[in-house]
Amino acid sequence: HYEKGVPHHLEVPPVPLHRLLEASADRFPDRVAVEFLGKQTTFRELLDQVRRFATALQALGVRRGDRVAIMLPNSPQFLIAFYGASMAGAVAVNTSPLYVARELAHQMVDSEAETLIMLDQFFPRYQEVAGEIPVKRVIVTGIQDALPFPKNLLYPLREKLKKRWTTVKPQSHVHFLPQLLARHSPNPARVDFAPDDVALLQYTGGTTGVPKGAMLSHRNLVSNTYQCRAWMRDLIDGQEVVLGAIPFFHVYGMTVAMNLSVMMGAALVLVPNPRDLKMLLGIIQKRRPTVFPAVPTLYNAINNHPDTPQYDLSSIRACISGSAPLPIETAHKFKEITRGANLVEGYGLTETSPVTHVNPIYGENRTGTIGLPLPGVDARVVDQDGHELPPGEIGELAVSGPNVMLGYWRNETETARALRSLEGGATWLMTGDMATMDQDGYFRIVDRKKDLIIAGGYNIYPREVEEVLYAHPAVLEAAVVGVPDPYRGETVKAFLVLRPGTTATAEEISAFCRERLSPYKVPRQVEFRSELPKTAVGKILRRALLESSST
Ligand code: AMP
Repeated sequence: HYEKGVPHHLEVPPVPLHRLLEASADRFPDRVAVEFLGKQTTFRELLDQVRRFATALQALGVRRGDRVAIMLPNSPQFLIAFYGASMAGAVAVNTSPLYVARELAHQMVDSEAETLIMLDQFFPRYQEVAGEIPVKRVIVTGIQDALPFPKNLLYPLREKLKKRWTTVKPQSHVHFLPQLLARHSPNPARVDFAPDDVALLQYTGGTTGVPKGAMLSHRNLVSNTYQCRAWMRDLIDGQEVVLGAIPFFHVYGMTVAMNLSVMMGAALVLVPNPRDLKMLLGIIQKRRPTVFPAVPTLYNAINNHPDTPQYDLSSIRACISGSAPLPIETAHKFKEITRGANLVEGYGLTETSPVTHVNPIYGENRTGTIGLPLPGVDARVVDQDGHELPPGEIGELAVSGPNVMLGYWRNETETARALRSLEGGATWLMTGDMATMDQDGYFRIVDRKKDLIIAGGYNIYPREVEEVLYAHPAVLEAAVVGVPDPYRGETVKAFLVLRPGTTATAEEISAFCRERLSPYKVPRQVEFRSELPKTAVGKILRRALLESSST
């Protein structure tokens, strides 16, 4: 079963990532490529800045294959840094702006990045570990560099008043982005290039939790952008507006928001802080995005914000939700408040650049499933020995395709664990997710292999219990984990955030679950929280909940 009108095999040109930008600059030179707090940059201007930045990197000594770390929020500078690194033949290393100095140091040492591009406000974190890391040069930029006049002058004043301003002093190894762009020509030296060159090191806990860099090649990232584009076939090049709310330093935002927008010649409207819901709603109303990729917690937050009804969200047409299960309630409500946006659930992981499955946007959407494999992706549900299981049976999801990573950076053990040769010879990525496939080829994620709760010998997948909790009218967010239990080995515990203005007791929640679940799946413990810990992308961290659990 394949999405109608989408070829199962897709021709993807063997080009480097920055070619996506060059091609759009050829086709739509004067169209807005990126917009940030009112400042618009056209494709022609963006390509000019990217070229200048590539020249600057080369002048600073960056060579093909060198690692260039990026520590920036969603901003025009992110695009300049990323495509500029690609053009200079370097490998980008995505770094979370939330990293504390120790985490930053780990990643710099592991990737041996000698160049770091960062926001001025983050500079103190670099200084803290400067002596321990191989970084030889730091390129600094500030939010003000991307703002229109007079906001660019007012921003530093405001930050100074709020005592949040960081002054970065000129030093021989510290460079300032605006000066580099002004000083260097838009004519970088041509770099030899192979489609299997690593374009990005994307750090992830992966399926085993040990932090490691997934090596994503130009072919991987370009393929996944083409694969997503084919899925969203009704969109029109040069006419769409994409909302860039999810972070680009995670490969989900990078591919499905940034690279896809650039490839389509769309205007990428950046949301500097998606946690500021009013700002997000305001931007949607004003800039009328048509494409809004995000994560379930963000759609859920919009659904439940008290001000949402005052905003016009009707421009939104195509939405892919990824990175965590999409509660059915969330999808229905979002469709309602946007008056008909197609919000479909997809699935993927860092190691697959990241999307492997999506529900048809224009065809048959089966809520509760992750849909069908994208063109070029093969997917199987396999048993422990890697043998394919028949439809309906639960096993580990394995995937193969042009978007599957090359391996983990300098980590053969973890690579061998994740990439396996299955029947038929191809290399398959073992996803670490338990799944089933139905007769028509739609896949359903049961849960992560490692999150399985075993209570009194019964297997319980937290997600099934969470689905039930989300259906309770007072529940805003829910997460279920297994906590140690002297008799049953583990027992089910639920963490809940209630909707503002509602109440519910642990007793009521249990009673609600008892009506809908077998007794062994009903949470024995319920803890109420004002919020749940989340990753930077908005995925609820079950592990952190376990560590902070009151029992
Ligand atoms: P990451 O590499 O950080 O993007 O995390 C990938 C993991 O997120 C997958 O292995 C899944 O466990 C989870 N995930 C992503 N999308 C979904 C989804 N639609 N439903 C359930 N889990 C998902």
